[in-house]
Amino acid sequence: MKKNLIINNLSNKEPTKDITEDDINFKIKKITSKKNISVKVSDDIIFSKKTLPIIAGPNGVESRELIFKVAKFIKKLGVKIIRGHAYKPLTFPYRSKNYKESLGEGMDWMDEVKKYTGLKVVTELTELKYLERVQKTSDILQIGSRNMQNLEMLKEAAKTKLPIILKRHFGASLRDMLGAAEHILVEGNNKLILCERGVSSPHTHRSTSRFMLDVQAIVALKELVKYPIISDPSHASFWAPWVPSLVYSSIAAGCDGLIIEMHPDPKNSAVDPLQPLNFKKFKEVIIKSRKISKFFNKKIL
Ligand code: PEP
Ligand code: MN
Repeated sequence: MKKNLIINNLSNKEPTKDITEDDINFKIKKITSKKNISVKVSDDIIFSKKTLPIIAGPNGVESRELIFKVAKFIKKLGVKIIRGHAYKPLTFPYRSKNYKESLGEGMDWMDEVKKYTGLKVVTELTELKYLERVQKTSDILQIGSRNMQNLEMLKEAAKTKLPIILKRHFGASLRDMLGAAEHILVEGNNKLILCERGVSSPHTHRSTSRFMLDVQAIVALKELVKYPIISDPSHASFWAPWVPSLVYSSIAAGCDGLIIEMHPDPKNSAVDPLQPLNFKKFKEVIIKSRKISKFFNKKIL
């Protein structure tokens, strides 16, 4: 155990879902520090108080053709970061015939995309054994909601010194999320971006919607944390027609970045076909988001 992690008067007297003064003073003191932190990915990409980078792309890196098609389209719109998972967590072990994880081959396609377009890449680290391959290509590591408290993974991801997107688990309190974030910071990596991606809820108001975007969490996090907070309305609502409004409400809530899932042919997406925006809708959302974010003194990147 590192010496500076031992706190003599650490109290566990008030175990609670909500964050106490005691937590802020002792348990999550780095993540709640008052200093404003911006996360720089490259000279022209920064997550900060003034900027709002968009991360766009399909759920999975299904094929070379798909990822190139997406990359060329988003680049034309001025989007600078592409997402897509070559290693893919699935809720259930079964999968359709047209789905396969593209694994190392998918990462190689991402490498080609980077070389060809200059886009930066976000991809998910699903298991520690993939870290070496993922960190070779990824400009930002995504820790998915299901791994939010995989402490060994957080530690090893932090050691890469790459920027990290930490997604809140759909059942986790902000207290638990910030505890996980603190694990990354104590490893000496403060290129940390927190992501709100929706929560389990007794009602989501439509059978095709899966989680509920917790806009209130964005506001609450902004009060506590000076690291960038981003929003993922796609994984929250799971229902593409609702995503545009949830993007706009996230901007109004003060988010410092967005993950938007999009696909050239959503209904044939190998996973979660109800979730991605098609190209036309995505373009509309980007144009409108630029206008809205100006009102909040933010620049969409
Ligand atoms: C994803 O980004 O594709 C993903 C699986 O996200 P989450 O961990 O939020 O479900
Ligand atoms: Mn997904």
